[in-house]
This record gives sequence, structure tokens and C-alpha cells, in this order.
Amino acid sequence: MTKQAPPLRSGSIIGILGTGQLGRMLSLAGARLGFKTHIYGPEENAPASEISWQTTTADYKDETALARFAQSVDVVTYEFENVPQETANFLSQFVPVRPPVRALEVAQDRLTEKNFLKNCGLSVADFQDIQTYEDLKAAHQHFEGKGIIKTRRFGYDGKGQWRMTPETDLTALFHEIDDRPAICEAFIPFDGEVSVVAARGVSGQTATFDMAENIHENHILRHSFVPTGLAENLKQQAADMACHLLTELNYIGVLTLEIFVCQDKLLINEIAPRVHNSGHWTIDACATDQFEQHMRAVAGWPLGSTHRQYDAVMTNLLGSEINHIGTLSEDEMTKIHFYGKHEAKAGRKMGHISRLFEAGQRPNIEGYKLF
Ligand code: AMP
Repeated sequence: MTKQAPPLRSGSIIGILGTGQLGRMLSLAGARLGFKTHIYGPEENAPASEISWQTTTADYKDETALARFAQSVDVVTYEFENVPQETANFLSQFVPVRPPVRALEVAQDRLTEKNFLKNCGLSVADFQDIQTYEDLKAAHQHFEGKGIIKTRRFGYDGKGQWRMTPETDLTALFHEIDDRPAICEAFIPFDGEVSVVAARGVSGQTATFDMAENIHENHILRHSFVPTGLAENLKQQAADMACHLLTELNYIGVLTLEIFVCQDKLLINEIAPRVHNSGHWTIDACATDQFEQHMRAVAGWPLGSTHRQYDAVMTNLLGSEINHIGTLSEDEMTKIHFYGKHEAKAGRKMGHISRLFEAGQRPNIEGYKLF
């Protein structure tokens, strides 16, 4: 029988699927609330395990290990969206899984996600389903050669994506897609990329954090700036879209919307059913941060205030950048977060910093540099 235990008391155990830095920061936030975390994932010595109460190192398909894990925790959550749905379904026989499995189903497949968003009345880039070479040719014609091909599943940080131009050799492109189901999206000449992190609690209460403007380098998030310079009505529209989705999904926990801004229009690029890199600034700049908010929600607690106390610029530290401790730490309003990863591979997210500023003092986005 499913355990019904909200609101969880201090000392309760929250199971987290996934072992990365998001799991680590969830564990830290959970510890402050008196919770213990039990991390589950296939990797050994991972960032989350280092600071959690317990770790199970096992495959997501290992039902014996999953059943034991489920019996040892009061609720299960996840820190990444590619948790197999069967894993989440299996666990939900024993223990509440929050956010709901439906959120995984929607977020794991770009075609399902786009159709879901459209059916919710929300705007997305025009898209077409690509299964055959004929579909690819038809999409090339429909989008007048200007599109982005994306595999439906397992794409991240620009992987599984190809820019399509009028000159693209479609035979070669189809070969690269290699039988993976895909979609073609219209290429959006956006003015900027923003995101909204929002949460919904067990009672249906919702809350949103301020919108962040995101700058990517080589398809990896580099900086998030808060506040954005967008008009108040667009900020409100984005917050309303997030709350609408939370309610549609009967969601519990934190969810992130990645959005393209095109003049005075917002188009949703994707949903992440989890805490998000573009919300890391909330740790140092808000009354309640995204990690605490998620833990409060999955534990059945009321949500905390998302009030922002500072302007902020969050910057990811990639590879060996974390070795510049002297430079990174010399400004007393720079908050440093290292993830405890053992190997500083090029491009790997090793940590982040948040630079805090009094209201109205945050630097311009144009030309902003880490050092
Ligand atoms: P995604 O994996 O969908 O988040 O895409 C990664 C990045 O590719 C986005 O952050 C955008 O910078 C860019 N991108 C994705 N889709 C489009 C699109 N339809 N038009 C233009 N740029 C896009």
C-alpha cells in the first residue's frame, strides 16, 4: 500500500533518484530542515552521495534494490528528468513519488512535451514529427530550410541537435539522426532566453521565483542574470504559464520553464521537471531557495517565500576554472559553490558562483566575463 505521510517530520528520509550536483544541493537543503536523504543511482563516489545520509549504488532497473530503497524512505523525488518511467512507476507502488510520473512522461519526449504544451494553450515554436526521410524533406520545405532537428529523447546541452539551413544535405542529416525519432522545430531568431523556476505544494499552493535571463556558451549554460530587463507584463505572463502547467500536471515540487523571448512574445522551449541550473542564484539571493522549496513541497510542507533580496549573476565554473580560488574568492559578495567532483574534465560543471548586488546594481549582460 502507498504510504501517506505528509507533512513529513524532522528525521524523515527523502529518497533522491540521481547522484549529481542537483541531488547534492537538495541533500544540503534537506539537512537544514532536519531530513535525511537517501541517494539512488548507478554512479560511485558521486557529488550527492558525499553529503547524504545513505546511498544505494544500483541500476535504475534493479527491482530488488529499488524495492529496498522504497521501503527505507518516506517519499521519493528525482534530480534529473531521464529517470526511466518504469523505475518511477515501480517505486510508486510503495511510496509517494513527487513530482508525479506524468511529469517525466511529458518532459522525456519532445513531441509529447510540445503537444502537451499546445493542448494547455501555451505557445511553442512550430514543429513537425520526423520519422522518415520524406518527413525530413517535408519539414525542410515547410520551414523554408530554417529549422532545428532534435531527437525526441535524451538530448541535453545541445546533444542530439542539428541546425538545418537551406543548404543542408538532407541525406547526410538523415544518416546522422540514425533512426532516432526526432522533431523539427522552426528556427527562432530569439532576442533572449529566460527561465522561470516555480513550485507547487501538496495543498495546490504555487509560487514562482523571479525570471532569470540565461546566456549559453557552446550549448552549456554560462550565466544567469536576475532581474531581467523584460517588461513586467511578460514576467507575469511567464509566471502564469508556469503555474498553469504546475496545476495541469497536478505537480508537487519544483519545475522549470525555459523560454525564448521574441520581441513581445514568449515561446516555451522546454520543461524541466526539477530544480534547475538557472535557479542556482536563489540559494544566495532569496528568502527560500529552489532546493529548500523542492524539499518543502515533496515533504508536504507549505512553500517558503521566494522573495529576492539581491540582484545576482550566477556563473557556472567549468573544468579547471574552479582552481582559480584566489580570484573567485576575493570579492566578499561572491558566493562560491563547489560540487566536490573529483576530475575537472574540460567543460564539466564543477561548481558555480553567485555574485550579489544591491538592487539596480547588477552588471550588464553584454560583455560580462567570469574573470
Ligand atoms: P534545448 O536542448 O532544446 O534546450 O536547446 C539548446 C539550445 O539550442 C537552446 O538553449 C537555444 O539556444 C538553442 N535552440 C533550441 N531550439 C531552438 C530553436 N527552435 N530556435 C533557435 N534556437 C534554438
